[in-house]
Amino acid sequence: MGATRKTRGLLIVISAPSGGGKTTICEHLLRKDPRLVRSVSATTREPRGQEREGRDYFFLKPAVFDRRAKQGAFLEWAQVHGHCYGTPWREVRRRQAQGRDVVLTIDVQGGLSVRRQDPRAVLIFVKPPSLGVLQARLQGRGTDSRETIRRRLKNARWEMSQARAYDYSVVNDTLAQAVAQIETIIAAERLRTPTEKKQRPAGNRRT
Ligand code: ADP
Ligand code: 5GP
Repeated sequence: MGATRKTRGLLIVISAPSGGGKTTICEHLLRKDPRLVRSVSATTREPRGQEREGRDYFFLKPAVFDRRAKQGAFLEWAQVHGHCYGTPWREVRRRQAQGRDVVLTIDVQGGLSVRRQDPRAVLIFVKPPSLGVLQARLQGRGTDSRETIRRRLKNARWEMSQARAYDYSVVNDTLAQAVAQIETIIAAERLRTPTEKKQRPAGNRRT
């Protein structure tokens, strides 16, 4: 066999309404698959619970976030639930160039923005079994105030209506099953024929 060709890794977007389970699912995926790496976003919101700088988010002051956004540091950025969130561009492309598949756990606005910039991105929407279950999971997580939960549930309705624009939709009922379904999607995407191979060879054309 010849030298292995290093192909660019996948860009995988996982979106869900807040409390839908994308963080939990992503942790399971990363634990099982060393080819995956999660992109760490920047945000202007305060850290909550056990969150750590650089592991969960880069926590930035609004003025710093604004400056970086203007400098074009983000692949996409959006205001979500009253705070700014953005995906640092350079780190994503560096990891992809190394052949790693990069997972973004971002909101729907961000997912659609990534799609516009990179048509090859794989968009997966994670749905809770119902809004009632979503509310119970947000309350059970114990990290958000009642007002925050109320605002997140209100946004959830709109976010769920955007699932149609995604390539795949997975219901997060049983965690193990949702993880397995996303693993199947990733496995299939890795087997996709590269676009250039699908073009008809020039020699077949009649002149
Ligand atoms: P997100 O990152 O989308 O905001 P999380 O991953 O934080 O959501 O999940 C919200 C809460 O729901 C967490 O407490 C998590 O442990 C719980 N959770 C996630 N998936 C499931 C599931 N399939 N069944 C029960 N609880 C779940
Ligand atoms: P949380 O405050 O619960 O961590 O995240 C709130 C929302 O912001 C979630 O829907 C999460 O996916 C989204 N989010 C996190 N990082 C990014 C990002 O870099 N870009 C966008 N557009 N949304 C993000």
